[in-house]
Amino acid sequence: MSIQFKKVNYIYNENAPFAFMALKDVSINVKDGSFTAIIGHTGSGKSTLLQHINGLLLPTLGEVDVNGFILTNKKLKSLKNLRKQVGMVFQFPEYQLFEETVEKDIMYGPVNFGMSESEAKENAKKALSLVGLDASYLNRSPFELSGGQKRRVAIAGILAMNPKILVLDEPTAGLDYRGRNEMMRLFKSLNESGVTILMVTHDMNLVLEYCDDAIVVSHGKIEKHVSVKELFSQGAYLSNLYIDLPTVTQFIYELNANGFNIDTNIKTVEALADVLGGIL
Ligand code: ADP
Ligand code: MG
Repeated sequence: MSIQFKKVNYIYNENAPFAFMALKDVSINVKDGSFTAIIGHTGSGKSTLLQHINGLLLPTLGEVDVNGFILTNKKLKSLKNLRKQVGMVFQFPEYQLFEETVEKDIMYGPVNFGMSESEAKENAKKALSLVGLDASYLNRSPFELSGGQKRRVAIAGILAMNPKILVLDEPTAGLDYRGRNEMMRLFKSLNESGVTILMVTHDMNLVLEYCDDAIVVSHGKIEKHVSVKELFSQGAYLSNLYIDLPTVTQFIYELNANGFNIDTNIKTVEALADVLGGIL
């Protein structure tokens, strides 16, 4: 049970004069149960990479193996068995809501993938409460909700399928600080219950606090696949890629440059405040 890319190339508009190679010789092996951040510049190939995991895009060359489901450039008869296991949350998923009620919207995926109406209904209720909305929302129109609530409903629709793998493309973009933290805690608890998560984010604070590993993508290539701890010990390397250190890590480096000797692996402002409280 894992996600493996074996020498994957992906070319947009192959055979056209404006063909563009967006992934080059990508080989990765994502451990089952891990929480992996995908980081890199806009246009580096992150979304292209993610879309290979549920077969939205097929490799032009090479192979993707998702829990034994093999994807190559040959069209498959059905991707249903794969898509049942891989929940994909796109950027701004709230734009994909379309049903009359929240309940119908959440049930759409599960029913489409073969779940019975009654089971899907039950799951919709559970998923809604997972994303922090109570059952009174079930009969409301998704279109009258706030942006953050819509996002939660869209994510509930994915969770209602009980995915084994969750692929998140900038899931917290545009959320406020509190909404972002709630969303991340939900993902973390899903991860702790065994769901493998891959998440594109530009927010290094989230990477530090929530992820185990990081994959750095640059110009369609994998630059690095390392633990988060290792990633943020390489300040100069990241700065070359225009990737900032997390705020907490920057602050600790500044303190240590001024005579402190604080553990650089501290992950949150709260933990750092505790340590400083003990010293000062
Ligand atoms: P990221 O998610 O890291 O911002 P993408 O995977 O979306 O990057 O895009 C990688 C590269 O592929 C970019 O140069 C982008 O312009 C190009 N690209 C993305 N989608 C398409 C498409 N549908 N057709 C042609 N080129 C595309
Ligand atoms: Mg993208």
